[in-house]
Amino acid sequence: MSRKFTGNKIVVATHNAGKVVEIGALLEPLGTQTVSAGELGLPEPEETGLTFKANAELKALAAATASGLPALADDSGLAVAALNGEPGIYSARWAETEGGRDFGHAMQSVENELQARGATSADKRAAYFVAALTLAWPDGHTETFESHFHGTLVWPPRGNNGFGYDSMFQPDGYDITCGEMDPDQKHAISHRAMAFAQLLPACFGA
Ligand code: IMP
Repeated sequence: MSRKFTGNKIVVATHNAGKVVEIGALLEPLGTQTVSAGELGLPEPEETGLTFKANAELKALAAATASGLPALADDSGLAVAALNGEPGIYSARWAETEGGRDFGHAMQSVENELQARGATSADKRAAYFVAALTLAWPDGHTETFESHFHGTLVWPPRGNNGFGYDSMFQPDGYDITCGEMDPDQKHAISHRAMAFAQLLPACFGA
């Protein structure tokens, strides 16, 4: 039995403004106020975990213990089967260049690694997005949910609607990439949506 959230205010444990808005919108219908770790001036912990779950937990726990309020954090990335799960928890790091984050560069690196392994046919290009979502309380209790969103990597990338690796990721059962999808359509089927769909009934009774 998961612990239920009973307060009316939650810390969104991220310094990413986009995630604050997205998570705030998901929690608003439940009557839950949100405040971000950035607004509270909380330090951003280093993501030293070796799994998505470990990183989501350490971010949520750091914010809950520092603020005295329950805190919600997520960690996500792309796992490519032919690359033994890489880039995985290092999905953002693969985008780092001297000029800042560049996901064109990250997608090219994934493609180069696939080519190096001869993974040119669709059956060798399976991948999934992962989202781990943790709700942590100031006493150290955590509830964590993880979801996978399966698809195939295409090349060249297609569509500019998304972010990150979206333009090379074609979800199973679709003939368009997440970069070509209407954002509302993607948000309804994504790894984050599925993780929230587990969290809401378990911890919010929603
Ligand atoms: P983090 O969860 O902020 O650590 O970000 C992990 C990285 O994974 C992001 O910077 C994106 O590159 C990638 N990623 C996570 N979710 C998605 C998605 O829905 N589409 C495309 N890329 C994603």
